[in-house]
Amino acid sequence: MNRHIAVLGGGLTGLSSIYHLSRRFPGASITLLEQKPSLGGWVSSERVQVRDANGNSAEILLESGPRTLRPNAESILELTHLLGLKDSIITTPTTSSAAKNRYLQIPETHGLLTLPNSVLSVLSPPMRTLLLPHVLKEPLRRANRPKGITDESLDSFMTRRFGASFARLFGSALVHGIYAADSRKLSVRAAFPSLWTAEERGWGSMVRGLLMPGKSSKPQLGDYELGDIQDMMKGVSVFSFRDGMSTIINALEERVKQNPAVRIVCGATVESLNVNDENCLEIRTSTSEVLHPDYVVSALPLQTLDAIIPSSPASLPHLTANPTSSVTVVNLVFPRVPGQPPLHPAGFGYLIPRPFAGYSPSDPGILGTVFDSCSLSAQDRPAGAAAHFTKMTMMLGGPYSLTPSHTSINTVLKHLASHLSDPDAESPRQLPDPVFHRTHHHKSCIPTPTPGHVDRMAELSAALNAGPWKGRLEVIGAGVRGVSLGDCVESGKRSGERWSM
Ligand SMILES: Cc1cc2nc3c(=O)[nH]c(=O)nc-3n(C[C@H](O)[C@H](O)[C@H](O)COP(=O)(O)OP(=O)(O)OC[C@H]3O[C@@H](n4cnc5c(N)ncnc54)[C@H](O)[C@@H]3O)c2cc1C
Repeated sequence: MNRHIAVLGGGLTGLSSIYHLSRRFPGASITLLEQKPSLGGWVSSERVQVRDANGNSAEILLESGPRTLRPNAESILELTHLLGLKDSIITTPTTSSAAKNRYLQIPETHGLLTLPNSVLSVLSPPMRTLLLPHVLKEPLRRANRPKGITDESLDSFMTRRFGASFARLFGSALVHGIYAADSRKLSVRAAFPSLWTAEERGWGSMVRGLLMPGKSSKPQLGDYELGDIQDMMKGVSVFSFRDGMSTIINALEERVKQNPAVRIVCGATVESLNVNDENCLEIRTSTSEVLHPDYVVSALPLQTLDAIIPSSPASLPHLTANPTSSVTVVNLVFPRVPGQPPLHPAGFGYLIPRPFAGYSPSDPGILGTVFDSCSLSAQDRPAGAAAHFTKMTMMLGGPYSLTPSHTSINTVLKHLASHLSDPDAESPRQLPDPVFHRTHHHKSCIPTPTPGHVDRMAELSAALNAGPWKGRLEVIGAGVRGVSLGDCVESGKRSGERWSM
């Protein structure tokens, strides 16, 4: 008998789930339900036409969501290989300045601080005082993990090991860059498991643990079809695609549509998911469709899943335990003014740590800026467009409460000019007017796994295997395992692993 699987949510997680499910169960019919008119979730690449005052023009590729991938994410490498996207890849070599140079912008100061990228650079000021003593002292600090704790915030973990100023400067900036969240709320065990286990391995010292050879906290699954793509990733820091991150979404959509057993329904909001009186799974959509699949994969945000599941006996624990961050993304394209120095130093971009006094409504609310032209200029047309145009992306929001005045283009540009100024200059530098700018407000786009998340997800998994669901519903996506695209594809690949059909 043909089995029917429904996949809810057409972001990268849901799409990679139907792709892998249709390979695993070639006889099954699979329906994907997505509320928006198109697939991809937060992934969104757009090409815009720009022109400067000297008549130079270009087509610039802008991302309003994710922009780069890490080459250690085997699940993404596998998908790239299986979808035949190898020739579309663009890479940032580890030797390039885009990979080596990253910066910090200290709130209430002008200019950028260079983060060290070699032993020698740790020895030069100001890192010699901001970073080095804390790292050298850490292995000498006594083991201080409180007895019996199974998780804590990244800030609390780093404060214990390195001191509060180090935790605020480096830990909070890192968390702004990945989760757009407050490091005092983020679970270290869920978000940085390798740091948590390094402390255990190093008899209480994270640094010692990281230096000791030991088992990686990442499960070695080893069942990826990679072809020769890993060779291509040698010496690569990050990668993307010539036509942006939507390349992978478009290729997935095209590939799964070739399978007549797969049906993709866009514009259909899932309004309820239940186990009915006949013990069958039942889905109702805004298009008045009623489905009775044998199995369901939910790749929806956890809060949405909670809202569509009726209360007891089918209700599931912990779906609303974590908050989410909202992020404002400002894409900017500037003209390169002949004879003027570049707008920014070569590098990946900069992050801004939590202000000393905490988050306040009077702060600019900026989390960081990516220097896209340095790592992603190969996306722009014609080749060499970076000689005439500079693209950057600023991220705002997360733990800050933004008002329209925070995100007005004039305010954002004023702060950017200050960040890109010489720290010793008396007044901030003048930036040329951008030839293009676009602002996207992404509401609740990144979940923050708070301390206890790993244990809560284990309880959720147990509840899905028992009770009315009896293993017929799997819950995956950014809210469950990890927010990176690699984590999302990995969870899609693993969906349905325990089902027998
Ligand atoms: C600004 C930004 C920058 C990022 N940068 C990076 C990066 O550089 N690298 C990286 O690895 N990661 C990055 N991330 C993280 C990554 O993009 C996300 O974690 C990932 O895209 C989440 O995918 P998902 O499919 O799990 O969720 P989503 O993309 O949220 O997909 C969920 C889907 O469900 C649909 N849906 C919701 N409710 C319903 C309903 N009731 N019925 C039907 N459908 C519904 C939604 O419309 C959506 O399409 C970034 C995220 C953001 C927001």
